Amino acid sequence: MVRFLSLSSGSNGNCYYFGDDKTAFLIDIGIGARTIKKRLAEHDISIDSVDAIFVTHDHFDHIKSLGTFTERYQKPVYLTRTLDRALRHNFCTAGRLKGCVRYLSEGEANEVGENLSVTPFVVPHDATQTVGYHFVLDGERFTVMTDLGEVTDDAVHYASLADHLVVESNYDVDMLMTGTYPPELKHRILTQHGHLSNEQTASLLRRSRHEGLRDVYLCHLSANNNTPSVAFESAKKTLESIGSRASLKVLPRACASELFTF
Ligand SMILES: [Zn+2]
Ligand SMILES: [Zn+2]
Repeated sequence: MVRFLSLSSGSNGNCYYFGDDKTAFLIDIGIGARTIKKRLAEHDISIDSVDAIFVTHDHFDHIKSLGTFTERYQKPVYLTRTLDRALRHNFCTAGRLKGCVRYLSEGEANEVGENLSVTPFVVPHDATQTVGYHFVLDGERFTVMTDLGEVTDDAVHYASLADHLVVESNYDVDMLMTGTYPPELKHRILTQHGHLSNEQTASLLRRSRHEGLRDVYLCHLSANNNTPSVAFESAKKTLESIGSRASLKVLPRACASELFTF
């Protein structure tokens, strides 16, 4: 049985837990180590059971506590060589990941432990490099992609392999355009290296349509330019229009989700 828990999702901080009886890991450490420990413990998950950390990119809301967490718990940190180079000079992580770094190759299935296979794939976003993760744990196929500016063929490909899809649905275009963000920030979010709008997420769902998709989790919602119900309705309409029976959930921004099991 695989368990999935979103510990936090959004520009305030990102951290996701996945685990089965043998292997458990976190994707991104964008919230404090103590909060991670507490939110896992609420589901009787010990932080000692976490075997590895995977990093998506070098933005603050994804690596804020990676240095502190690694110094405290000494868990292996899996990332690409490009991201490792960036993290050596990032104030959150510089000099603090020593001895824990493990490299992953982009576009390849990397075997990690005995029952986990992980494929990082590059997505367009304005960090040094940003990757999504496709992984198979205990036979369940997951694709996690957060922070990407457009729907690429690669993104569609890895989404189409997923039984369970965690994907960004960051903003509603009208809310962004009529909102109070300064023009430069609006432009940054809208570019091909910004974030996915609800419409773009809908287009990903349409283009990656496949019978095997069982669940969709919308993540990294903007606090100012989206609401859970607007994002949910957009994706729900799209899933209905393509005849998908996948269940749909919106992951909360500032607290943990319920625990999902597969
Ligand atoms: Zn982010
Ligand atoms: Zn980012």
